[in-house]
Amino acid sequence: MVVENYRDVLHRVEESCKRVDRDPREVTLIAVSKTKPISMIRELLPEHVMDFGENKPQELKEKYGELPSDLHWHMIGHLQRNKVKYIIDKACMIHSLDSIRLAQTIQTEAEKHRLIMPVLIEVNIAEEESKFGLHAEEVVDFITEVSQYPNLKVSGLMTIAPFVENPEENRIHFRNLYNLFVDIKGRNIDNVDMCSLSMGMTNDYEVAIEEGATMVRVGTGIFGERAYNALVDAE
Ligand SMILES: *Cc1c(COP(=O)(O)O)cnc(C)c1O
Repeated sequence: MVVENYRDVLHRVEESCKRVDRDPREVTLIAVSKTKPISMIRELLPEHVMDFGENKPQELKEKYGELPSDLHWHMIGHLQRNKVKYIIDKACMIHSLDSIRLAQTIQTEAEKHRLIMPVLIEVNIAEEESKFGLHAEEVVDFITEVSQYPNLKVSGLMTIAPFVENPEENRIHFRNLYNLFVDIKGRNIDNVDMCSLSMGMTNDYEVAIEEGATMVRVGTGIFGERAYNALVDAE
């Protein structure tokens, strides 16, 4: 089932690219495996799936330890500073940088491990009260500051769009984030390489791709519904 779902999503990614004349190679499909067992991840390995997303540092660390070392682990969820140490040498990218304090912690841990961590800035593009992320108008100053951290590489923007019935409702938010992305790219800030735009989930990834996403994060569409319970959401 997982393999069929994955192929279907990949096909839709390609179709979305076609509709707007984009090269599908510009878009990375991240299989969001949070809460799902390692056995399901293994099913996807023969499909050459390399990119997986997790939102709990402990879970990322455990899966990293059990699976082939060449997989790419994306840290997509809100990250607490005291948990950075679990994933600093395991994640290929942190999608959820949203505070200077977190940037400082990533800098310290990355320096210890002598590595450079690619980070995306999380933007609350729809200005939802319940969401993490910077306001759009804060992003340029924030990136200018983070660009001074030698062991971080600002690589783009990320957003979690509102939960909506009709994905078309999110098109405006994706478009707004894309425009911000292009604006920042055009500023050519030193030590900033705006190459990744992480937006779109199961419900709305096709619209996100039409609006310029270079990374889509799909969980339910590949692995099925998650059984949420108090344990899973506990930090
Ligand atoms: C869970 C999660 C996803 C995947 O959500 P689906 O709706 O299951 O595709 C994507 N991004 C983030 C940040 C998540 O936490």
